[in-house]
Amino acid sequence: MTYELKQLYREPCNCLFCGEPIPDGRPDKKFCSSVCKNRWHNRKNSSPRDKVQVRIIRILERNYDILERLVNLGIKQLDILILINMGFNINYGTSYRKSGIHDRYACFDISYELTPSRIKKIVRNPMETGADFNNPWKKPEPKRLPGRSFALSADP
Ligand SMILES: [Zn+2]
Repeated sequence: MTYELKQLYREPCNCLFCGEPIPDGRPDKKFCSSVCKNRWHNRKNSSPRDKVQVRIIRILERNYDILERLVNLGIKQLDILILINMGFNINYGTSYRKSGIHDRYACFDISYELTPSRIKKIVRNPMETGADFNNPWKKPEPKRLPGRSFALSADP
């Protein structure tokens, strides 16, 4: 068997620290995430509480990776089944608020709406641009640069 074939047919490996399957990585990968790798090396501090935290952080990291890929591709909405097939866990995020009739969630600085069938309005919150964090749709006030006569829009 060639190396490539071995990679295709390799047994699913589990993370040495949390025991979860390692998402598509090299066959010699031992950990599902840098968090688990660090915790493994600081094993003296590991406890059931650590494992719970690591499991949730890993889910959030995976969700964030997927959201970031969508943002970078300019994809603002997607069928929720495709999203789940990509490995997104809709039960975890870092914040939630009601926006009118919509349910608006965030995973770190990327926010999105969830409906029963779609993820919508995926945006990176323009926290650094002076925009209203509670209303990412509101256009930020234009910033005036010193010594210049025109206003620079902070819109990405
Ligand atoms: Zn792990």
